[in-house]
Amino acid sequence: MNALTTHAISRLLVVMAALGLAIPVVAQHPSEYNSAGVQAYQANRYPEAIAYFERANDLAPDSPVVRRNLCNAYQSHANELALSGDFRSAIRYVEGAIGVDPQNASPFIQLGSYYLRIDDLNAAIQRLETAIQLKPGDLDAHELLGHAYYRDNDLFSARAQWDYVLEIEPKRKNLAALYEKAFREESVEYDFNRWKSRHFRISYPQEVPNSLRANVFSILDRAYIDIGRQMGGVFPPPPIHVILYLADQFSEATQLEGHIGAVYDGKIRSPLTDFEGAWLPEDELRRRLTHEYVHVVARHIAGDNVPWWLNEGLAETLSRSLRDGDVNRLREMYAEGSAFTLYELEDNQINKQPPTTLRLAYLQSHATVELLWNRFGRAKMMAFLNALGSGMRYEEAFQTTYRRTFAILERDVAAMYR
Ligand SMILES: [Zn+2]
Repeated sequence: MNALTTHAISRLLVVMAALGLAIPVVAQHPSEYNSAGVQAYQANRYPEAIAYFERANDLAPDSPVVRRNLCNAYQSHANELALSGDFRSAIRYVEGAIGVDPQNASPFIQLGSYYLRIDDLNAAIQRLETAIQLKPGDLDAHELLGHAYYRDNDLFSARAQWDYVLEIEPKRKNLAALYEKAFREESVEYDFNRWKSRHFRISYPQEVPNSLRANVFSILDRAYIDIGRQMGGVFPPPPIHVILYLADQFSEATQLEGHIGAVYDGKIRSPLTDFEGAWLPEDELRRRLTHEYVHVVARHIAGDNVPWWLNEGLAETLSRSLRDGDVNRLREMYAEGSAFTLYELEDNQINKQPPTTLRLAYLQSHATVELLWNRFGRAKMMAFLNALGSGMRYEEAFQTTYRRTFAILERDVAAMYR
């Protein structure tokens, strides 16, 4: 054991033990640690590979091969963690990769995408701009930077990035449609005023009086606290973008039909008026903004892996109560046997249904989530969302949390409205 001091060995053993790994035969040269690391890496045992490469890197800090291997192992392990929904730990490993190989653009791009996923837009923009300095012309970096600018509501800068990507690769997946969307929004919102609070940035048409703007802020700040608490203390980082429109501007920018009250597509978008031009009453505005804010929190926990009925049911449950008329309509639905299955309510395609059908889908989702919330409590609901956030399939996440199937849940809801 001439190559290692007792201290170094015990440090290595501590690392291996912390990772829950078998203690390896102690190698003597950096190249042996490196080969052991390569073997572990090829078998997808990344924490073990990291431990070997770190050791090799300690012994041979000038080897670019070892450094690149260690960087790759950090990145691969981070990728595994991200796939399981653990973005915080994934970010720590990618930071490690940048530490050992700071001229490599790839971990900066990876880190930018994780910061985007956890809604830390400033951090995402910074890392992606660095990636492009290191590797000008990298299409992934330019596309992601476009997304980060877009989410930060800098539509012009977003389009500049996407323009560049589309010029080189016109058929880039989904990008032309996104570019069109940003272009449409920019043409409606170009002269909007902007205002910000601690958590929110608001864009709104010039016609909006200051008193109404102040109302919107107080509704949103209230929702930030109330919904954050009700959902177990979840407070997404700023900025949360809110775009307010007159009714016809809302239709033009979102291309949504008149019966859609508001939407969350990464930004909260809501009209402030009806089609006659009258300002919406305050309680209606509060209901709509609170509903959309629930989507912000749900997305922050579970990303896009949320079935439609859960997302909408939760937003309805936490923004309004079922009224007598709603309960009667639900009773009729179950009596006629015209209720949806949860499977039918999974997909966002349901939004394309005609208004009356869509209204029933909302009601049923509301009733379903309200039953889960009242009967099993908030902690279970948060556990369900967290399971979805870790990438589990809908029903598996549900069964793991509630110990029952969707079929049983459907039956329980039906029994309530009989
Ligand atoms: Zn909604």
